[in-house]
Amino acid sequence: MKNIAVIGAGTMGNGIAHTFAQSGFNVNLIDISQASLDRAIATISKNLDRMVAKEKITESDKNTTLGNITTFTDMDKGVANVDLVVEAATENVDLKLNIFKSLDTATKPEVILASNTSSISITKIAAATSRPDKVIGMHFMNPVPIMKLVEIIRGYSTSDEVTNNIMELSKKLGKVPVEVNDYPGFVANRILMPMINEAIITLYEGVAGVEEIDTVMKLGMAHPMGPLQLADFIGLDVCLSILNVLYEGFGNPKYAPCPLLVNMVTAGKLGVKSGEGFYSWTHGTKDLIVSPQFK
Ligand code: NAD
Repeated sequence: MKNIAVIGAGTMGNGIAHTFAQSGFNVNLIDISQASLDRAIATISKNLDRMVAKEKITESDKNTTLGNITTFTDMDKGVANVDLVVEAATENVDLKLNIFKSLDTATKPEVILASNTSSISITKIAAATSRPDKVIGMHFMNPVPIMKLVEIIRGYSTSDEVTNNIMELSKKLGKVPVEVNDYPGFVANRILMPMINEAIITLYEGVAGVEEIDTVMKLGMAHPMGPLQLADFIGLDVCLSILNVLYEGFGNPKYAPCPLLVNMVTAGKLGVKSGEGFYSWTHGTKDLIVSPQFK
């Protein structure tokens, strides 16, 4: 594999394009929005500058990496001659099903189609194509150039050959791939989201405050940040949506989202991206101030 298409140039897409390009792959980065593509190239360039400043790569490595990326707003053109597609478009089932239907006709039949989805069933995405054996999950973690893990998700029909190919490819990117089966939340979110939900329930029941809960998990469990702060970073709307996938997918009340989380999302308190969640983010990320609603 040499030529890769990345669909979606947002938070994850720019990191995935960066990682492949830095490992010597030719990357076609595709987005419906030219503004997203421009932002992605600017972000990749800034992140490479930081690596040059830290003497992890040279100026010439930076230029080679940027030279390996070509941008497209026309998906059919961008995927015409690639060996692998990694889809990292907006998390929306219908959107992804449409993208995979189009990819099925726009790419050569042997091309592997991967999705970076956090919570949508790979088996469902695969069923929208005529090559379910070649559809697989490649769940990178944010920020992609730094985080080592890639969760490799085997759909119900994904072949051994395709799984092995993608496991080996992930190692070539300097990542550590972990193979998991396609059940709601895969492994990462199945464990992370109930922990975040339990932290919110602990707050909701008045057992302890925001700072107290986060401090227990940081200093007691050696987590780099507490679960409530992490929820603010991920986005409370994203946490709620993944909890609903677990709740509906398993039909088990243990995954029911905490009513406080539901209320906060309804009120537009989404964490960092809206300026307020469990913490107030209006003063930037340096001084963590507990949101006034929890004082
Ligand atoms: P984002 O909103 O930052 O970016 C999504 C991009 O997709 C946007 O630039 C948008 O213009 C583009 N897009 C929408 N429709 C498109 C189409 N039809 N064709 C091409 N591009 C299209 O989203 P994100 O946070 O980068 O998430 C992308 C995917 O990665 C989602 O499936 C998400 O679940 C998954 N994911 C996100 C994270 C995270 O921490 N943000 C972590 C792991 C996985």
